[in-house]
Amino acid sequence: MPRDRTAWEQLESRELAPFAMKSADSQGRRHQETEHTLRTRFQRDRDRVIYSRAFRRLEYKTQVFVNHEGDHYRTRLTHSIEVAQIARTMARCLRLNEDLTEAVALVHDVGHTPFGHAGQRALQRKMLPHGGFEHNLQCLRIIDELERRSPDYRGLNLTHEVRASVLKHGTEGVAEFAGAGQPLLEAQVADLADSIAYCCHDLDDGLRSGLLTEEILAGSKLWQATLEEVLRTRPGACGDVRRAQVVRRLVDVQVRDALEATTARLQTVRSVAEVRAAPRRLVGLSDKLIAPRAELQGLLYKHLYRHYKVMREAHKAERLLEQLFDAFVEHPDMLAPDFQQWSEEVGCERAVCDYIAGMTDRYAQDEHRRLFENAGRP
Ligand code: MG
Repeated sequence: MPRDRTAWEQLESRELAPFAMKSADSQGRRHQETEHTLRTRFQRDRDRVIYSRAFRRLEYKTQVFVNHEGDHYRTRLTHSIEVAQIARTMARCLRLNEDLTEAVALVHDVGHTPFGHAGQRALQRKMLPHGGFEHNLQCLRIIDELERRSPDYRGLNLTHEVRASVLKHGTEGVAEFAGAGQPLLEAQVADLADSIAYCCHDLDDGLRSGLLTEEILAGSKLWQATLEEVLRTRPGACGDVRRAQVVRRLVDVQVRDALEATTARLQTVRSVAEVRAAPRRLVGLSDKLIAPRAELQGLLYKHLYRHYKVMREAHKAERLLEQLFDAFVEHPDMLAPDFQQWSEEVGCERAVCDYIAGMTDRYAQDEHRRLFENAGRP
């Protein structure tokens, strides 16, 4: 007999830690649905994320480097897959719910605008008088409202646990989740995996692009110690291979450190309720790694994220999105019919913001061209 949902649920209650979130204990979905016979609720959530349009669009959204700059750089899609890989490894080792962790990791960035943080800054400015813009809240809007897959309801109808977990900076502002306490451990793992992934992988892309150099990174003790270990254990490695060796070790060092520190903090924790009631998050790096990692991130911030070439692209992207926003708000009759209808429900600015936030980098560039170039030509 194939293993069905009931069997998976039994396996979870047998194998997972007492502080793990079991799929059978989920608070369920906003719109009631028949349970799947084969898949648990969180397996189904993960699959719904993968089949969503917002997830597919991540392929053409920027992390740091604009999408057209080269085929080897990371995009938000490859970043999300890498986050899921790190998060699943950690969830498995801590005996947490791997499916829930994976669902949260894969969905965590779908609320991002085109052109990374530059896009977010542009929409934040424009939406200031209209309720604001924040990418985690936008992620919730996407999975609750903007994705369409059912004739009966809007959104993906994900479980309460995944929906609550996308608001990773807490539940402020969303009444439904207020007072819930600390995020589930699965959400905490996905969040830490995100920070490990982008730190190491932006560093990798930064070196590849030439904007970062080993001389700059020599200012980081963590980088230097990892590099010296590679030089000692793999003396033959050079160029791309050496860089890959250092980056994978940097991920590994952080994952092992976090697993050890987190296990110690979980020693006396016996339930999900205790996780929620804890005074602070339980998943995280040890105190001895926090400062070296902050030092490395400081170098990335100064020399990569604020590099003048990156800033030029960022300001250009902000201008482009602001012009798109203003043009559509001034002339909402240029919006496609579904967004015109949406603007009647949520107001013009919010509908334009939803439209722009959902764009990929290249779609935004094309749309800008269609709106601002070749006037008078058919
Ligand atoms: Mg991310």
